[in-house]
Amino acid sequence: MVKAIVGANWGDEGKGKVTDLLSEQADVVVRFQGGANAGHTIINDYGKFALHLLPSGACNPGTVNVIGNGVALDIPELLEEIRDLTEAGVPAPKILISDRVQLLMPYHILLDACEEERLAGHAFGSTKSGIAPFYSDKYAKNGIQINELFDEESLMAHLENICALKNALLVHLYHRDPLDPKALFRQLMDWREEIKDYITDTHQYLRDAIAQGKTVLLEGQLGSLKDPDFGIYPMTTSSHTLAGYGCIGAGIGPGDMDQIYVVTKAYSSAVGAGAFVSELFDEAAEELRKRGGDAGEYGAKTGRPRRVGWFDAVATRYGCQVQGATDVVLTCLDVLGYLDEIKVCVGYEVDGEVIRYFPVTPVLNRARPVYETLPGWKTDLRGVTSWEDLPQAARDYVRFLEEEIGFPITMVSTGPKRHEVLYR
Ligand code: GDP
Repeated sequence: MVKAIVGANWGDEGKGKVTDLLSEQADVVVRFQGGANAGHTIINDYGKFALHLLPSGACNPGTVNVIGNGVALDIPELLEEIRDLTEAGVPAPKILISDRVQLLMPYHILLDACEEERLAGHAFGSTKSGIAPFYSDKYAKNGIQINELFDEESLMAHLENICALKNALLVHLYHRDPLDPKALFRQLMDWREEIKDYITDTHQYLRDAIAQGKTVLLEGQLGSLKDPDFGIYPMTTSSHTLAGYGCIGAGIGPGDMDQIYVVTKAYSSAVGAGAFVSELFDEAAEELRKRGGDAGEYGAKTGRPRRVGWFDAVATRYGCQVQGATDVVLTCLDVLGYLDEIKVCVGYEVDGEVIRYFPVTPVLNRARPVYETLPGWKTDLRGVTSWEDLPQAARDYVRFLEEEIGFPITMVSTGPKRHEVLYR
């Protein structure tokens, strides 16, 4: 049984909580794309953790956590996350790292920062985690697969070649010191010692797990609107955020995927620049951000204040479509309990015409929101666990969103804690 948990929007939809919840019944949780450039916030009996690279099953003693071949593996970041968990008393997580995963190197982080600096005001809002340089290298075939750490001679030759390329950029374009391939080699040998026991053929492991009827969760990072093809390019990330990519980034067959849970918030939030049609500003935004608490204030990775707005049904319908949703999980319904009225963006006005599809970026940049207004419920819903216990107006709101997006909302989250959720 394979289930994917992915985001419909800009990320930070609450996937971490949903994965943490579903991972109670999962044998394996897999990260299949991205790197340490986003984060999941998980709250459990041991405390609150922002996981960037570790799969969300890391706190469940029975769960195996797989870092799939599609991930950008930042080894020091991974080691630090493991340390943070164990120092808080969490039993050492069971981790498997794909022998085909590629390494996010210190020069990727450096080049990311140099490029953002060069672009200055026109930057893409990178988290400077090295993700864009990493995936550029991967597809230009300049990446380092982790298995190369065990073939020292060819690794050294590879590093020398990489440094020749990188140094041309670093010295002449960015005016930085050149890289030393020998120092990089020594660093890699140190890291190898710390992670070698985790490395295995995870593709084979997952095939066997699926054949044995185990439950495997694929955990997506960010959301549909950050996908490099279907997102708001170029304000996207550099790896695919769609469930379909789970097959490639984990190494399983498309036919093995049984359920695709697409997570979306009951309002919108985004970190970083780019089009955001239903965005709120000034006091209205400040209030929603404040009510959102942990969910509203700052990105889990960057600490940047989140931009917030009304639920965007146009973007979310599209976000669910490109994911191939079987189930939609609506989070943070509790956050809206203070509002007299709630708006939902049901169309975009572009050049005097109203459209209901999600357009390409230049058109999206001209879009203005078309709203419908629904009554609020003015009740604290925090921790409600049954559909019948929701006030009528809250149920109507959920049904309205469901009709607008055209996919079934089967779970509604009413608080950040694991069991603050109701099933429909
Ligand atoms: P992810 O990247 O999709 O996992 O999202 P994050 O974990 O970065 O952000 C979601 C935030 O919302 C976290 O702070 C969660 O603790 C919080 N959260 C998740 N679900 C709910 C919910 O139903 N209600 C409230 N109030 N907070 C939630």
